[in-house]
Amino acid sequence: MQTKFWHDYILHIPDYPKPGVDFKDITPLIADAAAYQQVIDAMADYCTQNNLQPDQLVCPEARGFMFAPALAYRLGVGFLPLRKPGKLPRQTAFTHYELEYGTDELHIHRDDIVAGKRIVIVDDVLATGGTVAASVALLQSLGANVVACLFVMSIDALGGQQRIQSQHPNTIVHAL
Ligand code: 5GP
Repeated sequence: MQTKFWHDYILHIPDYPKPGVDFKDITPLIADAAAYQQVIDAMADYCTQNNLQPDQLVCPEARGFMFAPALAYRLGVGFLPLRKPGKLPRQTAFTHYELEYGTDELHIHRDDIVAGKRIVIVDDVLATGGTVAASVALLQSLGANVVACLFVMSIDALGGQQRIQSQHPNTIVHAL
């Protein structure tokens, strides 16, 4: 039997969560040990081959949490969560940003970010790029050096890569 590649485990769910949206369901991927390892290894290899040398990873709530901790362990670095309002107990810095429908807010503990540290942002799916573009701006405003944004996959038609790249030309944007 031929081994399936990790992308075969991402399901495309039509009309979820609303009509017209083709939702990428990554839960079968993380449920399969070999597929999950392939993805984490591919992300780690990308970091190594491109000499990203992050000091820490940062990931947005909630699906970034499914990949960043495993990658951080593999690279031997720590990770910092970007969280929805009201979840972090100490003083936070935050970004308030536009979504396709409505707005959202992500917070990080202010004293977690040390100026000059090399950060790689990790998330599952790059869609419009709004979440991560705002996250890069937040981290840069705290003095971090956001060297790259790394995604398991990109929905290219939504233009997320171009959006992040146009706002943050010195940050690498890469989807596996
Ligand atoms: P963006 O800000 O790029 O439009 O949306 C990206 C964020 O929404 C990511 O944090 C991602 O987890 C979530 N997201 C958007 N579309 C999808 C999708 O089709 N599948 C999954 N798993 N997440 C999505």
